[in-house]
Amino acid sequence: MNLVEEAFSRLFSGVEFSFEPAVSYSGKFKPYNATVRKIGSNLYFSLSRSWKGTSDEIVIGLIQHLLIKILRKEKFVKGRSKMASLNMQLYDDFIKGVSEVTVSNGIGDEALESSFRRVNEKYFLGFVDRPQLQWGSESFRKLASYDYHTNMITVSSLFLEAPERILDYLMYHEMLHKKLKFSSSNGRIRHHGSEFRRLEGQFDGSGAIEADLNSFIRSRRRARPQRIRRFSWRRLLMFQ
Ligand SMILES: [Zn+2]
Repeated sequence: MNLVEEAFSRLFSGVEFSFEPAVSYSGKFKPYNATVRKIGSNLYFSLSRSWKGTSDEIVIGLIQHLLIKILRKEKFVKGRSKMASLNMQLYDDFIKGVSEVTVSNGIGDEALESSFRRVNEKYFLGFVDRPQLQWGSESFRKLASYDYHTNMITVSSLFLEAPERILDYLMYHEMLHKKLKFSSSNGRIRHHGSEFRRLEGQFDGSGAIEADLNSFIRSRRRARPQRIRRFSWRRLLMFQ
């Protein structure tokens, strides 16, 4: 039995496995990323090369997360109110562990560095270990993100000259991701749970900051109108 079939049967016991699975490893992914595609009854799993050599039990957990995602419309998945497995728990713990041990290289940009220090002191009593910090592309869509796999916070270069307060707000949001990790229920991974939203609201002047962020983005858009398509503001603010 291959890994996919094993993952499937542990998750959906009693359901016949009627898919053609294929697993490949790729060096193009970031560490510990993975994707799945479904074409007809074929399931194509593509895993970052860093998964090679990881315990099968953990990889099974990864595949189970992907199975739930890709098969969510299948009858035998829809009806289930609870989907969890020991393997998925192992996977979750493994990924959380990766973000702890990925060591920061210590070289960073001064603006990001100071923002991290300010926010760490003010909101986390200095207890958050410094992740890797980098400026990303000048994206209006993805304003900032935290990557658990590489323990890296990326901020869109849009904010290179943003007021400290706005940069700190984005930094705070991403540091909350690092601190809270994610919760997993019913096979779905939640990044912005109720605890996350509660803590997010504790940012100083959190009521006004969204409006400040909006108007900053708007001013940046006006500065280069010819290249930017129109997005709805709601969409813009969906930063991860
Ligand atoms: Zn987020």
